[in-house]
Amino acid sequence: MRDDLADAVREATAAVLDETIAGLQDAIRTNSTNPASGGPGEADCQALVAAALRRLDCRVEIWEPDAAALAQRFPFIRASLPPAGFEDRPNVVGWLPAAEPAPDGRAHLILNTHVDTVAPGDATAWRRPPFDAAVDDGQVVGLGAVDAKGCLFAFLGAAAALRHAQIRLRRPVMLQAVVDEEASGAGTLDCLRRGYTATAAVVGEPTGLRVCPASRGAAHLRLRVVGRGAHPGEGWRGVNAIRKAWQYVEALDRLRDELDRTRMHPLWAPLSAGHVWNLLAIHAGPAADGTTGAAGPARSVPDVCEVHYGIGLIGDERPEAMRATVEAALAEVTRGDAWLADHPPELTWRPGGFEPAVTDPMHPAVLGLLDAAAAAGLDPSPPQAFSAATDGRHLTNAGGIPAVNFGPGAVHRAHSPNEALPVEELRRAMEVLAIFLARFCGIAAAYC
Ligand SMILES: [Zn+2]
Repeated sequence: MRDDLADAVREATAAVLDETIAGLQDAIRTNSTNPASGGPGEADCQALVAAALRRLDCRVEIWEPDAAALAQRFPFIRASLPPAGFEDRPNVVGWLPAAEPAPDGRAHLILNTHVDTVAPGDATAWRRPPFDAAVDDGQVVGLGAVDAKGCLFAFLGAAAALRHAQIRLRRPVMLQAVVDEEASGAGTLDCLRRGYTATAAVVGEPTGLRVCPASRGAAHLRLRVVGRGAHPGEGWRGVNAIRKAWQYVEALDRLRDELDRTRMHPLWAPLSAGHVWNLLAIHAGPAADGTTGAAGPARSVPDVCEVHYGIGLIGDERPEAMRATVEAALAEVTRGDAWLADHPPELTWRPGGFEPAVTDPMHPAVLGLLDAAAAAGLDPSPPQAFSAATDGRHLTNAGGIPAVNFGPGAVHRAHSPNEALPVEELRRAMEVLAIFLARFCGIAAAYC
């Protein structure tokens, strides 16, 4: 069956692809590494985004998030806010041209993604310099190509394709280019604080063109175990804190596997693992106390061991309930060991744990994206959770806006050297998004 809209979008996408790639390259060349990772922040890149939105005839708003107001409105974010605030770190939003107004900041659809990146890491590990944005073997290579400047330009490219095809939307769409996603998500929260809302949101994240109506939650545990130091020549007199702590690590791994067996959520079932729990760090020995002294590491049986463990939450799991479940499993270890029973570990939960975000897979925005993907010729794949946490959690959990993660690129290429986005995936994402925008928001003016 001939699909006039899909045909028009395909043609228009081809026409605007080169300029979209060029825009993406400019954005990658404009360092927007998050200050929390030692970078200059988002200001320069946001100026470029604002200009791109204006070229698309968008009404543009630019403002710096208000840390104090955010802390008051969303107390859970307090611990994660940047100490220096948001000076020279503006959010940028653009209202796509649409026939219907957006009363009180209410859009029909929000397109949300972030312009900050993590740090490039070891520069020598990059085959191409991270800010060169070279196109190499059909891929745009550079920091943020995948996470999430590729997603941002999939949004902008979709809007450009609609404009090229002379398709004017009926209902209002707001594109949010936010700051500080890699640290707190405060940029998105500040959009909520300003009252921007919609019936649904698409969050630009590298889902590999899968439609992902869920993302994980997180909690972070620090466990401090004490042993008894001893001269290594008579190590049997000591109690090795690393060995004692390791029992807790194994108990956490067992609990994780048990939860995957007994509490799997259907949206996470297609992933390699539902509960992604990570042993993040172990500090042990006298150095753990900051008192290296004469008996430095390896010169004594370690008397202290500190374990950092990251706990991923799925489905309807809540951080408080998960804390209780984890603490019960750890208490069993403590009870089963005479030394630990007398010297129970100190548990510290880092503030800022958060819930997963789940949108009903039957929500019209989810079904609409799946339909648009099919119309753009993508192989059908059922909706599934995105393996990482995203700003979608703020939109859904704090803002009550059903969010769906979608975008080009593979998440495993992000946060690592040689981050690269296949141009073909960018093109596909633009097509899917343009078709989705036209169908979900309606067309005000004919495209032919
Ligand atoms: Zn990221």
